[in-house]
Amino acid sequence: MIKPKVNINGEIFSPENAKISVFDHGLLYGDGVFEGIRFYNSKIFKFDEHIDRLDQSARHILLKLPMSLNEIKQETIKTIKASNMKDGYIRLIVTRGVGTLGISPYKCEKAQLIIIVDIISLYPEELYENGMEIITVPTQRNMSEAVSPRVKSLNYLNNVLAKIEAVNAGFEEAIMLNKYGFVAECTGDNIFIVKNKTVITPPAYMGALEGITRNTVMEIATEMGKSMDISVKQRVMSRHDVFSSDECFLTGTAAEVIPVTKVDGRPIGNGKVGEITETLRKAFLELTQTTGTPIYE
Ligand code: PMP
Repeated sequence: MIKPKVNINGEIFSPENAKISVFDHGLLYGDGVFEGIRFYNSKIFKFDEHIDRLDQSARHILLKLPMSLNEIKQETIKTIKASNMKDGYIRLIVTRGVGTLGISPYKCEKAQLIIIVDIISLYPEELYENGMEIITVPTQRNMSEAVSPRVKSLNYLNNVLAKIEAVNAGFEEAIMLNKYGFVAECTGDNIFIVKNKTVITPPAYMGALEGITRNTVMEIATEMGKSMDISVKQRVMSRHDVFSSDECFLTGTAAEVIPVTKVDGRPIGNGKVGEITETLRKAFLELTQTTGTPIYE
């Protein structure tokens, strides 16, 4: 039985009773950081990597976490146990906390930790089989000099605007370019192409979140490269590189690995789900089932 649960500063609530102050700067200014994590088969996938990225995001915005990283991990496990779920999605949120009606984070009392345990399903199953069609949208990815895309902050309006443009045009996901016109990432996923058996993704400094699924897929591809004829590279990517690629796919915790078969009306490769994409997708799904931090022990 799925029983979504919410943990606020260590106390567990059912979703309808989980409430925080409207004076929290997470709500007033999007001032805070978050993580999206999946657990499969009673094991939390890449738990340490997510906790580490939460810590990095918090350091970047000078946010003092209200608990130690180890305590945050324990609270997360406690919340999953309360939900009784074996497979699901964890949203870890740290807000700046309750403050006054002014921007200054220094007037906020204490950061708040919120942990939501629920399920997530991002894209229709059919797209995983047949591939999805995406477009490039006009809204550019934030400049690193403004709000770094490497910080997983609660300030997602940049991505929300791009998502609105995608959905209004009839698509589920979209490519966001950086201010130089190079491919950064998608609104909630990282992007890969495969060209001549090289698996390529843009470097994070091009305006991408350093996705944990992205890093995992690069590791899988590197490992496969030892026995198969494939290599892995982080390389600056233009739309031309995408249009002329053999295969394309997206990665993300919620999305997992999803094939892309058309971009801005151009079929990618032969217009069908690529072979390397499919191999990586299967290997990724297997890893999610077999590795991770055990919950119930
Ligand atoms: N880019 C953005 C903008 C994201 O929000 C996400 C996470 N949903 C990703 C990439 C993928 O990152 P991860 O694999 O760590 O979930």
